[in-house]
Amino acid sequence: MPGRSMVRLLDVAVVGLIVLALTLLALFAWAARISDRNARTIETTIVAREIGREVAAFQASLPPTLRQAGIWRAELAQRRAVLGAAGPIPGGIEPESRIATLIASAAGRAQLDALRGALERSAENTTRVEFARLGDPGDEAIAIAALIQADGMERALVLQLLALPEIAGALDPLGIDLLPVLAPASMPADANGTLEITGIGGEVLAILPWRSTRLATTATERMLPALLVIVFSWSVILLIMRRRWRVVQSGFEQDLAKVERMASTDPLTGLPNRRALFRHLAEVAPAATPFPAVTVMMIDLDGFKWINDQLGHETGDEVIRQAADILRSELGSDAFLARLGGDEFVAIVHGKVTGIALARFHRHVSEAMARGITLAKAGVAIGASIGAVASEDHGGSGEHLLKLADIAVYAAKAAGRGQAVTYDNTLELEKAFRRTLARDLKAAILMRELRLHHQPIVEALSGRVIGYESLVRWQHPFRGLLAPSEFIPLAEESDLIIHLGNTVLDLALTELGPRGECRISVNTTGRQIMAEGFVEFVKALLARHEVAPHRLCLELTETSLISDGESVQAVIAELRAHGVKFAIDDFGTGYSSLSYLMRFTFDTLKLDRAFIAALDENADSPMIVTAITTLARSLGMEVVGEGVETAEQHRFLAAAGCTSLQGYLFGRPVPLVRLSDAGAPARPGEPDVAERAAAEPARAEYAPAEQPLAQQPLALVGEPATLSSLEAA
Ligand code: C2E
Ligand code: MG
Ligand code: MG
Repeated sequence: MPGRSMVRLLDVAVVGLIVLALTLLALFAWAARISDRNARTIETTIVAREIGREVAAFQASLPPTLRQAGIWRAELAQRRAVLGAAGPIPGGIEPESRIATLIASAAGRAQLDALRGALERSAENTTRVEFARLGDPGDEAIAIAALIQADGMERALVLQLLALPEIAGALDPLGIDLLPVLAPASMPADANGTLEITGIGGEVLAILPWRSTRLATTATERMLPALLVIVFSWSVILLIMRRRWRVVQSGFEQDLAKVERMASTDPLTGLPNRRALFRHLAEVAPAATPFPAVTVMMIDLDGFKWINDQLGHETGDEVIRQAADILRSELGSDAFLARLGGDEFVAIVHGKVTGIALARFHRHVSEAMARGITLAKAGVAIGASIGAVASEDHGGSGEHLLKLADIAVYAAKAAGRGQAVTYDNTLELEKAFRRTLARDLKAAILMRELRLHHQPIVEALSGRVIGYESLVRWQHPFRGLLAPSEFIPLAEESDLIIHLGNTVLDLALTELGPRGECRISVNTTGRQIMAEGFVEFVKALLARHEVAPHRLCLELTETSLISDGESVQAVIAELRAHGVKFAIDDFGTGYSSLSYLMRFTFDTLKLDRAFIAALDENADSPMIVTAITTLARSLGMEVVGEGVETAEQHRFLAAAGCTSLQGYLFGRPVPLVRLSDAGAPARPGEPDVAERAAAEPARAEYAPAEQPLAQQPLALVGEPATLSSLEAA
């Protein structure tokens, strides 16, 4: 992170600065010590040379007997001291020498007396050398007094005056102060330069101390405050910068965290989104590494698309939010729940969720949705389909498990929604099967493998066949005759349904067009009739087959109307204006069906066969059927009862007001060639179709093939022939 590294850089800079300053200080101090020591050595040399010169002169002035070290040592053994005039001074004092002048002066004599007193006080010492200032200030001299005690008497007093101003003058440029001392012990505290003065015998007579100027140390010490100020101010600047950076950086980090949070959160539900899901999957179920058992569940809401399209996105959003809350509370805090997008959720649960547990979870979720989602409470069907897969059973990475869960939820949806399906390998086969089927279907349309079976529609009261519903089948080269439920949903997933639907329409008009005045009912879908040029296509087709538009009835299911209702309505209006009829198919299975009756203009309402099948079992059914029929009739529509299988149903529906009926009672869907016996319109005096259908044993529609399809002609119309039959399925 750039902000963090900058702060770290500033930290390093501050520490570095302090370390550098300390190092510089240590270096300066060390250099100052060395140079001051060298300077002192030079000073000492100079002082030694200056004093040495005086001492040499002094020695030269001594009588020859005292110049030899041996004699000095012999004298020293005498332990007798002679001071000044008190003892014989070998050679005497020159009357014109400076000493004589000084001694002659009153001040000099007094000072000498003081010196003598000092020497007497330290008479115990064998040999002493004292320095004393003699003379007036400015004209002082230093006296070196050597007291030699020998033979219990003072044998010699040697005085040599060193001209102080001269020595001081010589030492002054070097910054050396001359500090005359009275005793070796009284070394000044601040003296750092010393010089030992030795006597002729090599013995240390005195120590000459002085305070050296210590130029380098002084310079360093002078520099120190400036250095400290520089270091301090730079440290302060760097620390301020660091602070600023920290503020900027923490803001930056917060922003980054916010962006990261937003990028991983679904704004609608607050749940982790697809991105966060894949990250979580990679964490809990990494690829190619063993991981603790998890179960991945994909949850898809049923009925959501309709809500979104019909009731608007805001209502859809609310449903998603409520569903998310329900899933979250049903799963508990241990599970990870994400919204994959749309109405799809993914839950990752620790451990293996067994089939029983999955069913229980599904039941709880469904009940909670029925209870908790406002629309569900108002009667709109909202549920959930769940596909689950346990890592323990199938392994692979998280992403792989997600794919399997997807296959399982797909199977749950295909099995009629509102189901919970645990993945097993057959599902994958099924999916692969469907994939190839979808691919084959494209070719099938071109290869003319689609067949039509026509089912009669009869007048309710008379039982007279008034028309046929043309129902498509696929004569698959290997799989036999396939029912529409096996391939129509596949085709509906893409624009293939447009091509398929138009082919069926063409086929129906081709086959039934020449059959008198019968009505031709063909199933269509929203996508098909919404396709560009559909109106012109239908008109052209009718013209080509010379079929009066009023004979054609296009059936549309409610679900087809869901998407883009307005445009569907425009197409319906245009074709109706041309004379084509429209029927709403499978009425009652969709959502809020009655609203369609108000919004769209249909000529016919086809009551879903579920109501008719339930007539005997469900006490409400007769009432619902009667109510719908009455309403539809009052809106000027014909009502067709679908799936009529028994005479009782026939009677009831006719009495309830159904205008027409369709069902096995009157005839199964059959190829054109069999229409004449199964569903031909009854002529006066002949038994009606119901009687004929009842008299005829029910023939399996999806009959097995007797000869391989490859050997059959690619006729549009013909007996269904298959290699294998899916009838059993
Ligand atoms: P649908 O339009 O409601 O067609 C009626 C279905 O009910 C037919 O099933 C028919 O065989 C079945 N049926 C008729 N009478 C009875 C009865 O007495 N008892 C029972 N149990 N069933 C009866 P089929 O042929 O399997 O078609 C199923 C659905 O597939 C159709 O329902 C229709 O929605 C769709 N379909 C068929 N052909 C086409 C087509 O060319 N295009 C489109 N888009 N959909 C089609
Ligand atoms: Mg239909
Ligand atoms: Mg129907």
